[in-house]
Amino acid sequence: MALRINDSEFYAIDAHSHLGRRKTPLGHGVASFLGDDLVRNLDEAGLDCAVAFPLGASYTDYSEANQIMADEMAKHPQRIISFCRINPNFGPEATARSLDHCLGALQLKGIKLHPEIEFFDPNEAELMEPIYQAARRYRVPIIFHTGMSSKASPGVIAELAARYRDVPVILGHMGVSEYVKLAVAVARQNENIFLETSVVGWMPLLLEAFRGVGTSKILFGSDHPHNPLPMEVEKISKHVAKAAKLKPEDFKKVFADNLLSILRHDPLGRVVPDVQAVPNVPIV
Ligand SMILES: [Zn+2]
Repeated sequence: MALRINDSEFYAIDAHSHLGRRKTPLGHGVASFLGDDLVRNLDEAGLDCAVAFPLGASYTDYSEANQIMADEMAKHPQRIISFCRINPNFGPEATARSLDHCLGALQLKGIKLHPEIEFFDPNEAELMEPIYQAARRYRVPIIFHTGMSSKASPGVIAELAARYRDVPVILGHMGVSEYVKLAVAVARQNENIFLETSVVGWMPLLLEAFRGVGTSKILFGSDHPHNPLPMEVEKISKHVAKAAKLKPEDFKKVFADNLLSILRHDPLGRVVPDVQAVPNVPIV
C-alpha cells in the first residue's frame, strides 16, 4: 500500500480519523465505524495508516471508547495508531488516572481533546495541567480540535502549549476558517505547535499555512469518516501541491515523516526520521 502522487509512491498516514460506536448516526449516516471499516477505506484511498481517536460523545468519560481504540489498534497494529480521548471536566484526578491507564496500560499513542464538544477552556490550568504532564511523561502528542468556536481558538490553546515546549501540540483543522491566521501565527511562534490539514477548504488559507510555516510543520489529516478520504487526500496531493509547488520531499514530510517524528513511533518498526524540531527538553 502506498499513495501515488504523479509518478512516485509515498508511505502515507492520516493524522486525524475517528473510530467508535454510537447509538445515533452521524451527519453522514455512520453510527458505527471500527477498524475493519477504516482499513478498507485506507486501502481504497491508497493510505498506509491512520491516527484514530474516539468519535465525540459529550458528557462521557470515554473509558469505553478508549478501550475500543486499544482493541482496534491491537487488531491492526500496522494500520491504526490509536489515541485516547479525554473529557477534562471529570476533574484533574480522574484525568490523571485515565491518562495513566490509556497511555500506560493500553499503550495508546497520543491524546485527543475537543474544547467545544467537551466544553472546556484549553487554557484553564487546573483542568489542563494533568494532561500536559501526562503527555510529557509518556512522550506523546496532544491533538486539539480547533476552529468554529472561541473555546477552540489556537490563541487560547497556545497559552499553555507554550509552557510545555517538549510536548508536541497538533492544531486539528488548523483553525478551519476564521482561526487559520491565528493557527499559522502560533505555529510560527512555538516550535512544538503543528498544523493538521483536515476540514479547512479555502485555498488562500491553505496556502497561507503552507507558505507561512513550511512543510516541516504540516500534517495531512482527513477527519474521516466525517469527510471522505479521497477528498481530503486530493486537496493536498493535487490542489495544494500544484498551487504551492510541492516537491516529493514535501509530500514525504506532510504525509508521514512529520507525524512519525512527533509520535516517536513507527507502526512498521522502522527508525523514526528526525525531520522536525521538537526541542529536546529533559523530561521532568
Ligand atoms: Zn475529528
